[in-house]
This record gives sequence, C-alpha cells and structure tokens, in this order.
Amino acid sequence: MLDPKLLEILVCPKCRGELALREDPPALVCNNCRLVYEIRDGIPILLIDEAKALEIS
Ligand SMILES: [Zn+2]
Repeated sequence: MLDPKLLEILVCPKCRGELALREDPPALVCNNCRLVYEIRDGIPILLIDEAKALEIS
C-alpha cells in the first residue's frame, strides 16, 4: 500500500489540494475537482489527462 508520508506530500495536480486515499480499487481522490487518480503498481498516476471523474455512490 501507499506510504502515508508519501500521501501527505502528494497534491492534486489540478488544484494543488489534498488527496484522499481510496482503498479498493486503490486510487487517490480529489474532492475539490471530483477526480480520481489511479494507483498502478503502487505508483499514483497524478496526471489530469489520466484522471477519471469521481462517481457518486
Ligand atoms: Zn483537485
């Protein structure tokens, strides 16, 4: 899983806001932009072009 210290320094590439960790599937979520950044092989893909829209469940 992702290092919590790493998570602290990671910010949303779009708004520079905080990211929330989602466990399953692993992803980082920006609640400001409503974008989901995938984590692939333990590496967060912090690219706006790669982000997906946050689905409201
Ligand atoms: Zn954002």
